[in-house]
Amino acid sequence: MASASSTDTHSGNEAAGRLAAVRDAIARTAREEGRAPGDVTLVAVSKTFPADDILPVLEAGQRVFGENRVQEAKAKWPALRERYPDVELHLIGPLQSNKAREAVALFDVIHTVDRESLAAALAKEIPREEAATGRRPRLLVEVNTGLEPQKAGIAPAELGAFLARLRDHHGLKIEGLMCIPPADEPPSPHFALLAKLAHDHGLPLLSMGMSGDFEQAVMLGATHVRVGSAIFGHRPPL
Ligand SMILES: *Cc1c(COP(=O)(O)O)cnc(C)c1O
Repeated sequence: MASASSTDTHSGNEAAGRLAAVRDAIARTAREEGRAPGDVTLVAVSKTFPADDILPVLEAGQRVFGENRVQEAKAKWPALRERYPDVELHLIGPLQSNKAREAVALFDVIHTVDRESLAAALAKEIPREEAATGRRPRLLVEVNTGLEPQKAGIAPAELGAFLARLRDHHGLKIEGLMCIPPADEPPSPHFALLAKLAHDHGLPLLSMGMSGDFEQAVMLGATHVRVGSAIFGHRPPL
């Protein structure tokens, strides 16, 4: 047991050190671009990692976390939130319409609004949640900047009509855009496209950049970077 706990402490220290390095890199890049470091929110992506790996990152002061599955987040976060009530939880993975109620109850920000049936489910569940608890999640639309057939998200050319439909037909307030660039292309053109789309539509939040490219995303205006392995370490393939 003693060796197991010293191993845990060791890896916890490593995670805290990596967290500090990521924070420094974000702050440095923001300042170089003339932005305030506080304008960029680090979303620490804790998907696949158990509570024991998340605790050292909470202890190091991180409060904003991202998960990509409703069921996994529901299993891990209520207990962690009892100890850290000021945690902000972001859903960064695909959301099935039949999980909209659970997602709305659990998450503070949903980055992946990507089709009208999901928008309709959210439009039904958000007022219910707000009436019951006074809280409502903030919403971002996922954009498929690389037009990849296997990837979720709205095509850039369809974004204007989609946003109008969400606003006028479903009464949803969308605050920003999110993208995951194609794995085999330089990300910067995708980040620049997302930033232009957000600007054109008057949307303040820009969720872009992961472990390998968050600095480029900050250079191009990201307000939220989603960083997993650079903080938590290697993730076993799913
Ligand atoms: C897993 C994931 C991330 C984090 O990826 P890393 O490369 O580990 O930083 C960011 N965004 C989304 C949508 C993810 O699913």
